[in-house]
Amino acid sequence: MVQETNEFTIERYRAILVRAGSLGYRIGPFRAFDGARDRPALLLRHDLDHAIEPALRIARLEADLGVASTFFVQTACAFYNLLADEERARIATIVELGHEIGLHYVSARYTGAKGSEHLRADIALLEDLSGQPVTAAAQHVPTDGEPVSLEPEIAIEAYQPRFTEHPMSYLSDSLMAWRDTRPEELLDARASFQFLTHPENWTEGANGIGAVLDSLKRAALDATERRYEEVAAYYQRLLAERAERDRLFRARRGLPPRR
Ligand SMILES: [Zn+2]
Repeated sequence: MVQETNEFTIERYRAILVRAGSLGYRIGPFRAFDGARDRPALLLRHDLDHAIEPALRIARLEADLGVASTFFVQTACAFYNLLADEERARIATIVELGHEIGLHYVSARYTGAKGSEHLRADIALLEDLSGQPVTAAAQHVPTDGEPVSLEPEIAIEAYQPRFTEHPMSYLSDSLMAWRDTRPEELLDARASFQFLTHPENWTEGANGIGAVLDSLKRAALDATERRYEEVAAYYQRLLAERAERDRLFRARRGLPPRR
């Protein structure tokens, strides 16, 4: 039965995993993938393009169902700051739930004179954040960038033919528009496939990629406004307490009091 809907909801995502499980699929992340063999394989991939927070729901859902996946994270993202406390905590939670962290990259970052240095630095950063070896990477918008070799640092790249070509298939929710097939149809056919989802797309009531981006934008603007309000209040407090704070600062550093 093909689900004749273009809805992207967490319930639909759950139903796909539950059905794959009941059909005997081997479901897992890239680090554990050993090919499509006796049983069909479902390789679970998530790319985090604009926010990390939406990944938590998917990460928890999968953990509840007893499956693990790979979350590919950008190190040089214009939309989230991987080193901010709250984002580090989110990555740690994803790891605690049993998932793999991979590198999501734009190939231009790893070409040129400093390319391999950047790659090694990015892997080291993700390994520090995740506490895991980082062995898998996935290119961001590969239809809009040159391929680049990540070897010898990275052995697993999501677009290698072993993850996308027969006996595997490749299915992506990119732009919230399926290409020629839907996940339910691949399950019907007992096909092995890499399933790429962007967790931010699988939200209630979002009708298309434009609506998802609008909603992410509103959340980001609210958060930015809140941070500016907080820092303004903080600076006001520093100004009000400046004389006392200056005195304490000098005392802590062993400097004589100002006269
Ligand atoms: Zn991406």
